[in-house]
Amino acid sequence: MAKLMDVRSPFPRVLAIGAHPDDIELGAGGLLARLSRSGSRVVMAVCSVPTQAEERLAEARRGATLIGAELVTVCGVEPVRVEDVPMHRIVARLDEIIARERPELVVTHSIRDVHWDHQLVHNATISALRRTPCDLLAFVSTPELNAASHFLGDCFADITETIDIKLEAVAAHATQTAKGSANLDSCRDIARALGRISGVTYAEAYEVLRLRL
Ligand SMILES: [Zn+2]
Repeated sequence: MAKLMDVRSPFPRVLAIGAHPDDIELGAGGLLARLSRSGSRVVMAVCSVPTQAEERLAEARRGATLIGAELVTVCGVEPVRVEDVPMHRIVARLDEIIARERPELVVTHSIRDVHWDHQLVHNATISALRRTPCDLLAFVSTPELNAASHFLGDCFADITETIDIKLEAVAAHATQTAKGSANLDSCRDIARALGRISGVTYAEAYEVLRLRL
């Protein structure tokens, strides 16, 4: 995949869609930072902020800034869980963002992620992309919590140059690292293991859902 992407890189416009603050950083922070640094406009769309809205939004803004991305919220800034928002409303809001951004590449949660909210966002993304020709990759945001999904990925992005940015962006979510739902050591270890599999120092794994050659 890294080689395929190099053929057409950089994607001028990239959209990442995550259920909660820090999901995108954990799953795709390295690739997004790499694309941003190679000239792509990167937008990170966070669907909901379930708790501590003000604090977690500030963390999300910092994470996006480190990655070199613009942050947008899908369901507003009031505390809400994804499953409490009607699916048609999430899709309608994603429709607006996609129509505005016209992304060549979209990155979102894998349906194999065991977190229910992540599966909902995956389905909303697929629905919102019904008329948009773009490449589509899916990630699992915390592989160590998704052992039951048997997800390893079928393409790999070399993030050797951006692993430190990714970790800094994950660390920006101090509320999450403090409670242990994001672990920086695990994050680096997993990137190193995926790098070993794909022949680089650090990597992220993706599932290819749509690829235009
Ligand atoms: Zn999440």
